[in-house]
Amino acid sequence: MSEQNKYILGEDRIPREWYNIAADLPAPPPPVLHPATGAPIGPDDLAPLFPMALIGQEVSTERHIEIPDPVRDIYRMWRPTPLHRARGLEKALGTTARIFYKNEGVSPAGSHKPNTAVAQAFYNKQAGVTKLSTETGAGQWGSSLAFAGALFGLEVKVYMVRVSYQQKPYRRALMETYGAKCVASPSTETDSGRAVLAAHPDSPGSLGIAISEAVEVAAKNADTKYALGSVLNHVLLHQTVIGIEAIEQMEQADAYPDVVIGCAGGGSNFAGIAFPFIGKKLRDKTDVRVIAVEPAACPTLTRGAYAFDFGDTAHLTPMVKMHTLGSEFIPPGFHAGGLRYHGMSPLVSHCKELGLIEARAYHQNPCFEAGVLFARTEGIVPAPESNHAVRAAIDEALKAREEGASPTILFNLSGHGHFDMQAYTDYFAGKLEDLDYDPKALEDSLAHLPKVAAE
Ligand SMILES: *Cc1c(COP(=O)(O)O)cnc(C)c1O
Repeated sequence: MSEQNKYILGEDRIPREWYNIAADLPAPPPPVLHPATGAPIGPDDLAPLFPMALIGQEVSTERHIEIPDPVRDIYRMWRPTPLHRARGLEKALGTTARIFYKNEGVSPAGSHKPNTAVAQAFYNKQAGVTKLSTETGAGQWGSSLAFAGALFGLEVKVYMVRVSYQQKPYRRALMETYGAKCVASPSTETDSGRAVLAAHPDSPGSLGIAISEAVEVAAKNADTKYALGSVLNHVLLHQTVIGIEAIEQMEQADAYPDVVIGCAGGGSNFAGIAFPFIGKKLRDKTDVRVIAVEPAACPTLTRGAYAFDFGDTAHLTPMVKMHTLGSEFIPPGFHAGGLRYHGMSPLVSHCKELGLIEARAYHQNPCFEAGVLFARTEGIVPAPESNHAVRAAIDEALKAREEGASPTILFNLSGHGHFDMQAYTDYFAGKLEDLDYDPKALEDSLAHLPKVAAE
């Protein structure tokens, strides 16, 4: 390949390694506990669910982990993703701040999620697995895994939260176009699904329920493994391509962020952009403020307990120490389906406890207002989840104007909103409600957190 073609394809700009923050943390994160015994688990306990290569990454403390060539070959379809200076937005705000954003919406599925879907599909294929089961909320993860499964010849089965299954037929159509099978959860196909339906025949479903179904199928079938789109260490690891690229791209722009911002559901796109910067801070004392933004209706980092909890409703998953609203918590309705999870990545939670990151929560109307301004100044319609990051970036820029400061702000645009236009239609019609979570329901849910000896 000629030098010029290499440059055009960006071959040299796709990272060769993922970054593992576990190597740089001043204190190791707490252990992962067995769901039945409460004792710390080892790699073998996870073997029914994940291939060994991913389990190895889950517990690794190596700083750099090589990205296999077949994964980089697929990343080349859309990576490196563009880093833009949001000049139109800066002008509209009259801010003295510089705002940059990384656009992960350019991937085939429209979000950051293929960064890990492709890696997970690769390691499963390599281990001889033929089928993957998973859950999806709004459909972003299901379509990303469906895409990756198609490229590696894996069968993909997606348990989709029922309310989204009904509200987002086009996401379902996208999964089916990539060849995946999609069923509404709770379904009649699993013990966990049937148990929920017996108690609540009209259950709208939740991510916690859908995870139980997908985990059950993987645990019971030797040819099937489970794939999770967020929360776990190896998922966050794969997403660090975002921040690694951003550091190099900011250098080309002769800039370094004072503030790094990401929206946080399970924490993967946030960690993807933020962890490489936090690593630099821990190693070279390059100071940076890091802000995770979540919905006020599902305020895991800002209102949750930091405690051991299950990842799912039926308590089939291991217990991890994280910020959690309790596995029974069902948030009130709002449009950012990808931010509805009751828990938070243990690594992101640990960083919060160590004081390495800040968290804030917003209601959905101010987030959509920010997303509409972004669309009208930068041309890209953000996903409802990403609007949370846009809102925080705008607020930081407005604060800079007031203070006469000129910080450099970097945020992650985790995805585009082309499958979420109903949410925008509802916003324009004034139909979006800024619902608060029910404090009593949260109290009840937290009262049922598992009792754990290790604490
Ligand atoms: C899934 C999703 C999120 C939330 O997931 P994280 O793991 O917290 O990143 C955010 N934005 C988009 C566009 C998503 O699809």
